[in-house]
Amino acid sequence: MPAGKKECIPTCDNCGDPAIFFDPGLQRHLCERHLCLGLEHRVTRALTRHNMVSDGDRIAVGLSGGKDSSVLLSVLSLVIPEHWDAEIIAVTVDEGIAGYREETIQSAVSLTQQLGIPHHIVSFQSLFGTTLDSLLIAHPLRACTACGILRKKALSDAAREIAATSIATGHNLDDAAQSVLMNYFRGDFERLLRDSSSREERGFIRRIKPLHEVNEKEITLYSMIKGITGLLPECPYATTAFRAEVRTLQAAIEYHYPGASRRIITGQESLNEQAKKTIRPGTVSYCASCGDPCSGPVCQACGLLAGLNKRD
Ligand code: SF4
Ligand code: ZN
Repeated sequence: MPAGKKECIPTCDNCGDPAIFFDPGLQRHLCERHLCLGLEHRVTRALTRHNMVSDGDRIAVGLSGGKDSSVLLSVLSLVIPEHWDAEIIAVTVDEGIAGYREETIQSAVSLTQQLGIPHHIVSFQSLFGTTLDSLLIAHPLRACTACGILRKKALSDAAREIAATSIATGHNLDDAAQSVLMNYFRGDFERLLRDSSSREERGFIRRIKPLHEVNEKEITLYSMIKGITGLLPECPYATTAFRAEVRTLQAAIEYHYPGASRRIITGQESLNEQAKKTIRPGTVSYCASCGDPCSGPVCQACGLLAGLNKRD
């Protein structure tokens, strides 16, 4: 830098302190304190605006121990008692992934102890009689597809066991934008237009995503500022996922066109609103094997497990 010329450090548009983040949606620079307050405010607004919580609720928070779900649990434990008379219980699913799960589960245990929140841990081994690792050695499956289907079922079963009224997951704005793109790339328009709010009436435990208006970068910064999670290992299967490729693409689009992810979601929401007027909800049936509500004769998890047993 030339002598006598001061480096221009952006300052917070709210208070004038040094800024650490630029919000492309609000077109504002934010300091540590205002980034945290803004994130907590957006979670409270999402909970209120979408009626995600009511007094008397018992919310099962899916806690993998990773950054997103840990920030979700921390923020909910802060904002829920301020506004609602609702209970929070953390639920961790141990898929059985060696070299990854041990550390993240330990991180989940420490966090729940620190926050004083009851913690329920279930495993693929106890529920399905196998770990994800063993399943993948014996069967040529896509790791994340099998993991996603079985984890969803494990979380629903655990939530039912603890009599939860809803399941909160740490999906953020970037995840939502990636899901929209993935459905387009797969040409899966049924899933693209599926209205999750109507599923609630059709027998599914309600799923809520309180971080859906918060992007990954804000969550990472919030976690660092508040010291919520340290450095954790990455799932060894993560690089094989279709989502990993879409994530790279979405991150590049967001970098070159700030706010693009938010616009993908807004566009999708308008499309869903239009679709709701013309598409009648499909009929719901119940899985012949486990009784869970589903759209075919058996649910995805039982279908997957039955297929594996046949091949054994
Ligand atoms: Fe499961 Fe894939 Fe996530 Fe690993 S990256 S935990 S296999 S969904
Ligand atoms: Zn500030």
